[in-house]
Amino acid sequence: MNRLLAGTCWVAMTVLMLAGTAHAFDTVVLDPGHGAHDRGAAIGYVYEKHLALDTARRVEQLLKKEGLNVIMSRSRDVFIPLQDRSALGNSKHNAIFVSIHYNYNRGGSGAGAETYYHFSSSYMLAAYIQAYLVQRTSMTNRGVKSAGFHVIRATTKNPAVLVECGFVSNSSERARMLTGEFRAKIAEGIAQGIIAFRKSK
Ligand SMILES: [Zn+2]
Repeated sequence: MNRLLAGTCWVAMTVLMLAGTAHAFDTVVLDPGHGAHDRGAAIGYVYEKHLALDTARRVEQLLKKEGLNVIMSRSRDVFIPLQDRSALGNSKHNAIFVSIHYNYNRGGSGAGAETYYHFSSSYMLAAYIQAYLVQRTSMTNRGVKSAGFHVIRATTKNPAVLVECGFVSNSSERARMLTGEFRAKIAEGIAQGIIAFRKSK
């Protein structure tokens, strides 16, 4: 076997191995951040908890149209402890977990979208969502990042990511995210990323 052929075989074997461990999911757990007294990022009357819930509901509708089961950690303005959110993320078989947030930084200079994962097995899901979210919204691409946020660290049974859909603290991003049209684009980007990730398996 020549070198080139050996290389080709190695690639084919790797692809087969990855395919063998593919995570075929039919359920998406959507986790709108915060709720009730926990407003999340807030500037004036603009609260992250409202933006996250509205965006998650839009993603829910888009994914249901694709025939996926969708479970929401909250569908109303209620407080859900972080442990309950990750417990929900672990309780479903053949599922992925997607937490939806909006960002904040002091001074208001932060801009753009970023997607977090904790375990490397969740990296590809984060990469797909980030790519489609940025493509759909033309927001600044802050990239895919690793972090230890509770919901993505304690959700161990399924791929789990946390999406930050732009900065509430940035006046121009805030103005855009206050429109349903822009939140629809954000939701489309997230849903398209999830669907593309699923088809990639
Ligand atoms: Zn948040």
